[in-house]
Formats: sequence, C-alpha cells, structure tokens
Amino acid sequence: MNAPGLPPQLLHRIDDLSLGNSFAELPPAFYTRLMPTPLPAPYLVCAGASAAALIDLDPAEFATDDFVETFSGNRTLPDSIPLAAVYSGHQFGVWAGQLGDGRAILLGEAPAPGTGHPGVLELQLKGAGLTPYSRMGDGRAVLRSSIREFLCSEAMAALGIPTSRALCVTGSDQLVMRETPETAAVATRMAPTFVRFGSFEHWFYNDKKAELKILADYVIDRCYPELRDTANPYQALLAEVTRRTAHLMAQWQAIGFMHGVMNTDNMSILGLTLDYGPFGFMEAFDANHICNHTDRQGRYAYSMQPQIGHWNCYALGQAMLPLIGEVDDTQAALQNYQSEYAARLDDLLHAKLGLQSKLPEDGKLFDAMFAAMQGSHADFTLFFRRLGDLQADRPETDAPLRDLFIDRAAFDAWAVQYRTRLKQENSLDSRRSIAMHAVNPKYVLRNYLAQTAIEKAQRKDFSEIGKLLGILEKPFDEQPENAQYAALPPDWASHLEVSCSS
Ligand code: AMP
Ligand code: MG
Repeated sequence: MNAPGLPPQLLHRIDDLSLGNSFAELPPAFYTRLMPTPLPAPYLVCAGASAAALIDLDPAEFATDDFVETFSGNRTLPDSIPLAAVYSGHQFGVWAGQLGDGRAILLGEAPAPGTGHPGVLELQLKGAGLTPYSRMGDGRAVLRSSIREFLCSEAMAALGIPTSRALCVTGSDQLVMRETPETAAVATRMAPTFVRFGSFEHWFYNDKKAELKILADYVIDRCYPELRDTANPYQALLAEVTRRTAHLMAQWQAIGFMHGVMNTDNMSILGLTLDYGPFGFMEAFDANHICNHTDRQGRYAYSMQPQIGHWNCYALGQAMLPLIGEVDDTQAALQNYQSEYAARLDDLLHAKLGLQSKLPEDGKLFDAMFAAMQGSHADFTLFFRRLGDLQADRPETDAPLRDLFIDRAAFDAWAVQYRTRLKQENSLDSRRSIAMHAVNPKYVLRNYLAQTAIEKAQRKDFSEIGKLLGILEKPFDEQPENAQYAALPPDWASHLEVSCSS
C-alpha cells in the first residue's frame, strides 16, 4: 500500500497488470498450456482490498465487468500464458502417482513489489475447468469451498501465518454435482510459487533426474537465491524447506489451525499454508480432533500435524536425494526438523502465556494447561484470549476464564501454578495483557461463522463475507462492536461436517 509520506503510487487497472510467465519458460513436460473454461454469467462474490494492494491493483476495479470476466476465466489478460502444472504426491500416506492442477489454471505472475523475494505473485484461478490432470473431477470448485478458502487465506495472513493469498471469488448459477447440487465458483489465489513437495516427487518417481534438477534450480533461483552459493544448494534447499515447514507446523499448533489434508501435493515448497479444503480452527479443545470428516483414521488430526509435517519433509528428501547425492547429507538436512519445531513452539507458547523469561519447568506448565483444556474441552481461542485478562493477584476475577472449564478444580489448580510462574518474573498485568492480546486472537474463522456467510451467499447475499473479512483482518483488535463474532459456536454448529468434497 502507499506508505504515508511517500509519493502516491499509481494503482493498476486490471489490464495494466503486466504478467510475467516464468513457469511457462520451463520445459513443456512441466505443464499443459490451455485456456480456462468460461464460467457462465459470472458475478462477483467477494474481493479483498489488502490482497489487491499486494499487486498494486486498484480496488475500484472490483466493480468492473473486466475484473469479473478476467477472474472467472472468461477473458485473458494481456501477456497471460495460462497453464496447468503437473505434480504427483502421497495422499494419506500412500503413493498416489500423477495428480496435477486438476482445476487450477495459472494465469502468470504479477509484480508484487512489497512482498520480498521474488517480488511477484502468481495469479491462479481455482475451479477454472477441466485440465489434462482432472482425472475423475469436473474441474470446478463450489461456492462453499471457495468462500472458505478466500476467508481463511486472508485470516491466516492477518494472523501472521505464512499462506497463499486470495484476491477474489466469482460465482455462477451453473450447477455442479457434489453430495448435492451446488453452484460453481472460481477463487483467485496468489503465491510467489505454487510448487509443492509433490512437484519434486513427480520427477523423482518418474526417474527424470534432469527435470528434477531443472525444478530445483528454478525454485532456488527464484525463491531462495541466497542458497545458490552454498556448498550443496540442493541440500541447503531441503534444510530450509524443512525449517520453514517445522515453523509453519508450530504456528498452526499455536493458533489451533487444522489443515485437514496434509498430503505431499498440498505442501508448499515455500512453507506456506496451501490448498484450503476441510480445514478448521480448534474450538472445544481436543488434541485428537479430526477436522476432515473423510479422514476416518485421523492421520491429519490436530496432534498429528507436527509429525506429518516431518513425514512430508522426508518424502521431499527422498525425492531430492538424487540431487543432494548422499543419504547422510539428506538426513542431515532433515534432522533439524524436531529442534526447529520444538524451539518455535516453545517461543510461541511463552508468548501466548505472556511469559518473558524461559525456565526449565515451563514445559510442565504447558503440559498441565493442555491437560486441563483437554479435560474440559475448553474453547481454544477464548481460553488464550481471556488468559490475557487474568489478574495475577485477584483469582476472584477469574470467572470468564474459569467458566470455560467444566472441571473448575482442574482450572483452579493450573491457575495457581500459572500465578506462581508470573510472580517468578515479576510480571506486570497491564503489560502482560497487551503482549498477550497481540498474539492471542479474539477472532478466528470458526466454522459457524463461515457457514453463516456461505448460506447467505447461496441466497445471493454476499454482505456477510465482506463483514467477516473486515473482522478477520484485525484478529487481535478488541472490536467491541463485533464481539458476537468471538462467541462460542451455537448448538446447530455442532452438526457441521467438513469433508474433502469441494
Ligand atoms: P486436493 O486434495 O483438493 O488438494 O486435490 C487433490 C487432487 O485432485 C489435485 O490434483 C486436484 O487438482 C484434484 N481435484 C480436486 N477436485 C477436483 C475437481 N473438482 N476437478 C478436477 N480435479 C480436482
Ligand atoms: Mg491440492
């Protein structure tokens, strides 16, 4: 965005987005060039000014036909070379072979000057029609899942968690079949690259070492140029992706985010949260919660995410072994996962509890906290938010926090430990409260909030999406006028099920 004091930047009109196409310069085996399938009579469902600002796009464009037609796939931007990329992957722990962009079409990359390296964002239409990689699918996305992806991408960004972004969703009355007939939609996503762990696995399992090297060089040169001059850039790449993935898992755990489908084809080579499907935010705390109704075994349950992140890095390491050379060097690149994860989570938990110092016994305090939360299924977001209001010398004011626990005695016992710990560092309530509220959000995308916005949108009232976006873009602010959006889920929400179907 235009920073105060600097000369105003010119915001682009839609046709002034000059797209680059670095991915299209890779050999043809990496993708199929094709046009999106037009979406009949499209209309704008939602668009985000913060996402548009990343590519200096004027939000006034949202209201134009050109915007809606472009991001429905009905109109091509100048310089665009649309394509669908090929990749493979492990799904639910099993090698699934070739997958690829079955319904996503890359338009090209727009300059994104304020976003750090490589200073571009790829624009991708999700739900833009059949591709050679569609397999049994219809190439479409439904309105419901597109709204969820849009809201969650932007909510995660505002929470400071690495993620692909979402520019907009367009809709159509065209029906597509899922469990029931639903209407089609196209979500426009943005990321510096959509290359996945599965992109590397694709070439490894097809025994194509030359292509594997081309892909690794492309990723290093574009996204990790600082690794180019290391002794073994491929080993350095694996080590850095492993580190980022470990940190991402720590951030997910600390905010209570559950991805739902952590297959290797959904793992970003940049360590971004990618491919929002049956995700969820933890509400009533249960470490074994499975947010994806289709995941019967609980492979991707909340408590499993950190180790699955590690497993996925091993799958990437296996695929990169021919480039790295030695098994030992590959192992070495992977071995920091545990310590990186543990250290980052430890930092995040100290911040969540408002602790400035670190003491050897803190791990026990955290374990006892999660045990008490588990025992009472305390609401994850409200617990940490209200903990920021705890007054160290006045247990008699604990009611709002204490009321989140069915087992009050368990909470009381833990609160004694916590208060003792606060005293040990002479914690000052007022300062601690500000610090805690800056890391423990008041507002997250609870399923019932998304569902309310979706049901209105299905009746062509899109107002709730914009309202929610505005709230979720400031998740740490009190926003007293929106306090009802921080409330526990209503009874009807306990029946909500989120599946892979999207
Ligand atoms: P996901 O688990 O949603 O990340 O998707 C796994 C694979 O299925 C990817 O290759 C997707 O492109 C593909 N896919 C999912 N839904 C569809 C669909 N409706 N049409 C075509 N391909 C799809
Ligand atoms: Mg996917």
